[in-house]
Amino acid sequence: MALQDKDRIFKNVYGFQDWKLAGAKARGAWDNTKAIIDKGHDAIINEVKASGLRGRGGAGFPTGLKWSFMPKSDPRPSYLVINADESEPGSCKDREIMRHDPHLLIEGALIASFAMRAHVCYIYVRGEFIRERERLQAAIDEAYEAKLIGKGNVHGWDFDCYVHHGAGAYICGEETALLESLEGKKGQPRLKPPFPANVGVYGAPTTVNNVESIAVVGDIMRRGGAWFAGIGKPNNTGTKLFQISGHVEKPCVVEEEMGIALRELLDRHAGGVRGGWDNLLAVIPGGSSMPCLPASICADVTMDFDTLSKLKSGLGTAAIIVMDKSTDIIAAIRRIAYFYKHESCGQCTPCREGTGWMWRVLQRLERGEADKSEIDLLFDVSRQVEGHTICALGDAAAWPVQGLIRHFRPVMEERIARYQAAHKQAAE
Ligand code: SF4
Repeated sequence: MALQDKDRIFKNVYGFQDWKLAGAKARGAWDNTKAIIDKGHDAIINEVKASGLRGRGGAGFPTGLKWSFMPKSDPRPSYLVINADESEPGSCKDREIMRHDPHLLIEGALIASFAMRAHVCYIYVRGEFIRERERLQAAIDEAYEAKLIGKGNVHGWDFDCYVHHGAGAYICGEETALLESLEGKKGQPRLKPPFPANVGVYGAPTTVNNVESIAVVGDIMRRGGAWFAGIGKPNNTGTKLFQISGHVEKPCVVEEEMGIALRELLDRHAGGVRGGWDNLLAVIPGGSSMPCLPASICADVTMDFDTLSKLKSGLGTAAIIVMDKSTDIIAAIRRIAYFYKHESCGQCTPCREGTGWMWRVLQRLERGEADKSEIDLLFDVSRQVEGHTICALGDAAAWPVQGLIRHFRPVMEERIARYQAAHKQAAE
């Protein structure tokens, strides 16, 4: 079933309306936020838990539960850090929130910070997002001016919000690399434990949340966790910003119900697959790090965390990359492999060496210049990278390769056979 307009949270995702405070208020933001704050820290966390909200940054960890890990009485200050380093190829939803509805994010930041007893929030914005940063800062200035945030604000909880501009490294979207970068150091992931809720930014308790996860909090609190939980599917609740790119008629970002069928989503909002559904080759359902799914599986797939993980892929950031039959799937995955090789921070050997190794083998496989046994070798190496690194970039590099081999082995073998036949003929 399609998301009804009354259940929409992001009413200005296309920027047709006023993004400023007056426009945001007209759409319902900052509506009696004081009453939400007055409910108390734990009541807010419980309501977010009841909503079933799972983190929108990719991992899908329950947001309310994550907040409950923050210490209740600790001499150190607590911090909320919002991850606006949206860099996963295919992902382009957080930027729409920042430039078209920034007050949803700022209000959510205040409520979430209060819930976790934090007086300070940092929003770490991707280096390339210059206009987004300017717009967000302008909205924060408005909120200070209107005494919605800051010291002695109308909500009775002192709260400062700072925008930090990154320098454009993909790895800074990894939460601990982000914290390192925020502290002014090289953006390299930290070994966990300790987790940020214990030792985060400046050695203090910190929760890192995605932009979309925080931007929906105001609506959840106003309309109730049960309302949010009533949308979507069990354990996969609420509305979700889907980003559809690639070989569709009308690429777009759209808010829909979690768990919507992929085909329905593409047909209703993106004008369908270019050349019709039968022209579909594969879909990457959750940003470039997620394994691709072939057309045969896509027909029945629904867009939610649990369904996609059962299919050995993932919802990730819900960035859907559609590839029609004109795509050279080996070349596509080779290009993705190059991205992860380029973005590896180099700290751990399996990632530093493995990403480059996989890319180089894929280059040869794309031409067919390989032995069939190398397909298994490539799979094996990807398994040795996966789960053996400090951060998830190793997994992100391995999964697309595994998806390719799992679903398109015959294409790879055929490419090799063709190459070998051509060489044999040339030799003769
Ligand atoms: Fe760096 Fe890669 Fe190790 Fe992550 S997995 S810490 S990106 S080398």
